[in-house]
Amino acid sequence: EWFFSRAAQRLKASATNATSQRARELRAEGRDIIALSAGEPDFDTPAHIRRAASDAMQAGHTRYTNVGGVPELKDAIRAKFLDENGLRFERSEVMASTGGKQVIANALLATINAGDEVIVPAPYWVSYPELVSFCGGTPVTVPTSARNGFLITAEELEAAITPRTKWLMLNSPCNPSGAVYHEQRLSELAAVLERHPQVHVLSDDIYEHLIYSDAPFRTLASVAPGLAGRILTMNGVSKAYSMTGWRIGFAGGPAKLIKVMEKIQGQTTSCPNAIAQWATIAALTGPKDFLAERRASFRERRDLVVSRINAIDGLECLTPDGAFYVYPSCEGLLGRVSPAGRTIDSDRDFAEALLEEANVAVVFGEAFGLAGHFRISYASPTAQLSEACDRIEAFCVRTS
Ligand code: PLP
Repeated sequence: EWFFSRAAQRLKASATNATSQRARELRAEGRDIIALSAGEPDFDTPAHIRRAASDAMQAGHTRYTNVGGVPELKDAIRAKFLDENGLRFERSEVMASTGGKQVIANALLATINAGDEVIVPAPYWVSYPELVSFCGGTPVTVPTSARNGFLITAEELEAAITPRTKWLMLNSPCNPSGAVYHEQRLSELAAVLERHPQVHVLSDDIYEHLIYSDAPFRTLASVAPGLAGRILTMNGVSKAYSMTGWRIGFAGGPAKLIKVMEKIQGQTTSCPNAIAQWATIAALTGPKDFLAERRASFRERRDLVVSRINAIDGLECLTPDGAFYVYPSCEGLLGRVSPAGRTIDSDRDFAEALLEEANVAVVFGEAFGLAGHFRISYASPTAQLSEACDRIEAFCVRTS
């Protein structure tokens, strides 16, 4: 053990990856598994984006680039922030990284000292608290509830802030709950943040385009321009453009912060993949009509899954406004026994029994910091979702 750093030993492997891995293993054994565990769209990267990547290769865009991305990409990111979010940035205020994940890692590595606190509303994306701890900081989780739509309130935020608070992680639409912070709630949170100038906000907008409410998506920096000097607005092409494997994310924020993040990135990965940068330029500046089509398709799938889950005795599910996840409660089943005789005492037991006995992979809620629930990703074809709901229903009916 002496060989490994304390930071690495503290780090937990991702439960989401572990569930998907287990599903693949069972499938390799010949089992007919439906995996609703992955956080990626089932759609292909659009053809015009793939074509831009091959053109880039032929044109020789195959070398190291500027650390934070080629100027053309920085300008495409600036145009995206201006047109879609009303945020105006200079080139020195934006950067691209190897996925949104590297943006977040850069930001935390750039700012966290031992004992610094980061507020993480739960349920949360699994990487936030892990990255905070890895950097030596202390994640301060603030549980939300289905009753409050899985949204943190101004009072809860106020109560969690201390003089050591450096960041609030704000993720809307949220993975895993699908909850969306609309304008009113963002203004209420901003009013609290006004009073605490030590707190910065990492606004994780990666699911921006996957929103199903009539109210449009809003990001904190546009609702509260007075806070702009303390907000890092993160986004990327993984989810909206079905480009998870291309690994490009980006951010806009104060030039001082971006500069330190670029310094760190320069010493770790040099620059994001050059070919993927050009594909991202095509994504951000190209046709957008497919976004509405995909959104409509996700919305239908959400409605299907929510209505099927709510018809099952023991399960309860909100209708979230965004992302491609639902986060049902399985508390009604706790204390019961599964068809094959497993006692279900926790969401972890539930997810395990469901996989072993009903061949459906979901991720247990404890992994996201809010137990008693589980996460279903509905980024799968309708027929598969429908079959998975049949299996979940049959399993729950026989769990008594
Ligand atoms: N933020 C959230 C909430 C996510 O769910 C994900 C991906 O699962 C990411 C950030 C990072 O995505 P990527 O690194 O592919 O840009």
